[in-house]
Amino acid sequence: MIEQTLETVFAELGQRSTAPRKLMTEELARLAATGEGFTAEHFWHRLQQEHPTIGRATVFRAVRQLVERNVLDCIDFADGTRLYRVCGDRLSPGPDHHHHHLACNICHHISDFHFCLPHATLEQIGARENFRIQDHSLTIYGVCQNCQ
Ligand SMILES: [Zn+2]
Ligand SMILES: [Zn+2]
Ligand SMILES: [Zn+2]
Repeated sequence: MIEQTLETVFAELGQRSTAPRKLMTEELARLAATGEGFTAEHFWHRLQQEHPTIGRATVFRAVRQLVERNVLDCIDFADGTRLYRVCGDRLSPGPDHHHHHLACNICHHISDFHFCLPHATLEQIGARENFRIQDHSLTIYGVCQNCQ
């Protein structure tokens, strides 16, 4: 099912069905199942093991595009680490699946929780600041159970 969505998104992006695309789909499905966060660099190295000629620029561009298409969520840590996670709203749309993240500053583990600011509060902020809200994200940083 996640493979299906990824195929659709890649098609939207105008990418023909190629070996790299198939490989990325497989690897992303695997990462979605474990829920682990990964760097773009790490993702590229994983793909290279199967497909040595896959280009860094190709993989990094795909990662950016998958963030824009709400397939990947992106979490930035204060130490400069940027991790991606295959848990974007595009994969499980609907208010029931809307989520935000808990991010451990020590081991960089990311988990999600299903809570959001009340819709009315977001609307009030938009109205008060005369700001047309399109999207939002919320990440809570701290120390996970394993690292405590
Ligand atoms: Zn997420
Ligand atoms: Zn931790
Ligand atoms: Zn929210």
